[in-house]
Amino acid sequence: MDISIPFSHLQITGTEFNYFFICHRKLWLFAHDIQMEQESDNVYLGNLIHEHSYPREKKEIMIDGVIRIDFLDDGAVHEVKKSDKMEESHIWQVLYYIYCLRQKGVDIRNGVINYPKQKRTTSVELTPENEIEITHTLVKIKEVESMPQPPEILNTRLCKKCGYEDFCYS
Ligand code: SF4
Repeated sequence: MDISIPFSHLQITGTEFNYFFICHRKLWLFAHDIQMEQESDNVYLGNLIHEHSYPREKKEIMIDGVIRIDFLDDGAVHEVKKSDKMEESHIWQVLYYIYCLRQKGVDIRNGVINYPKQKRTTSVELTPENEIEITHTLVKIKEVESMPQPPEILNTRLCKKCGYEDFCYS
């Protein structure tokens, strides 16, 4: 795929970007509208934390109807997460949001992942190097999603916490 395609044409959400770093099968299932995550208790708890951790007026900035940023504060993109267990995927998700804002002409490079349950934050900065990595990742995501069959089951302890566990192991 030509990586010069404008990002707005790729229509890749933060969730898809996040899932790429967790499990390619999860990404494929989500992209094909098999969305069992919505039924999971973990997602419910995550939504509750979102609702009650930060003032409502600061929330949810939509970009092109595709990217939903939790809030902007002190010149940084903020993303609220329930647990820090998947921190690498969270870091890439926030870097992707910063990348998207930059594509729209917003001069921003910093992000913060808020873990209110753990009472901690992680700061990230978009570098030219990871900007390039993001463009490659967008191409790889499209490749995974266009596979005719879902990728193999991951078969790790991550599956125990995944909303697709019943689907994958039934
Ligand atoms: S249950 Fe495991 S293999 Fe299936 S989508 Fe989730 S993480 Fe991937």
